[in-house]
Amino acid sequence: MRLCPDPEQARLWCGEARRSGLGFVPTMGALHAGHLALVRRSVGDNADTCVSIFVNPLQFDDPRDLERYPRDLEGDARLLRDAGCSMVFTGTLAQFFPEYGAHERIPARDPGPWAQGLEGNRRPGHFAGVATIVARLFEIVRPDRAYFGEKDYQQTRVVADLARELGYPEVIVCPTEREGDGLALSSRNVRLTESGRQRARAVPRALALAKAAWGAGERSASALRRLIVAELEGAGMEVEYAEVRDTSFGLAARSEPLEQGRALVAVRVGDVRLIDNLALDGPWPESLPKP
Ligand code: AMP
Repeated sequence: MRLCPDPEQARLWCGEARRSGLGFVPTMGALHAGHLALVRRSVGDNADTCVSIFVNPLQFDDPRDLERYPRDLEGDARLLRDAGCSMVFTGTLAQFFPEYGAHERIPARDPGPWAQGLEGNRRPGHFAGVATIVARLFEIVRPDRAYFGEKDYQQTRVVADLARELGYPEVIVCPTEREGDGLALSSRNVRLTESGRQRARAVPRALALAKAAWGAGERSASALRRLIVAELEGAGMEVEYAEVRDTSFGLAARSEPLEQGRALVAVRVGDVRLIDNLALDGPWPESLPKP
């Protein structure tokens, strides 16, 4: 596995690899089994797979969150090598956007309609930051396929719109990897205290309850939402949002009774922010315990 410490080297490497089929997994590092599932899927689909590790300041609305974001480049490189990754690259903001001086503002890309609501409301500028860096990463790598996790559902829709605009790559969305008790894997989980980790189990439990209610015929977004909020607040969590949306209409539009349903939540457990979501109308994921 090649390690490229700057984006220009990565661009050169990708120029060669692209001829035989190139998969790309963008990450912010502190890798866990969720990231590695994306890498393995790409390794299976493509002759070569490259991964970026970059904690992108443009997408952090909270400077403390950026500062505390876990980092472990050496450990990450080992995991990626074992997963069959061909090249990993990193860089600084200045290296990714060399056309702007140190004191210039990097212009943000319009992230499109899926950036509105939910995460977009709670984290102003977040998706503009995501779209800006992902567009630049795509330009550097020019992958045939790019892999994203369903865990960040709204992000997958923002990125799918971006790829449609650029005309490449094919965006492949992979299922959320979970711990045995259903908690979605996240780089931020390492910051949970022992009691916070116990309380965090209420997130997958709340989603599972909503899915079970959907299975029993409940189609009211507000009734499903009430179930979720009761479970989260019962566990002593601060609920930033909990919504059930018919995502076939986009995030803003609603229809009742719901024809399709996706529950999306963001909570705070102490000072750790967790997000998760679940298709209520799909098959029951193996990784999610039934209530
Ligand atoms: P991040 O490093 O948090 O920016 O995540 C990089 C990629 O990994 C994104 O596409 C995420 O959606 C994906 N990802 C994060 N957590 C999980 C998970 N538990 N299961 C599957 N994919 C994930």
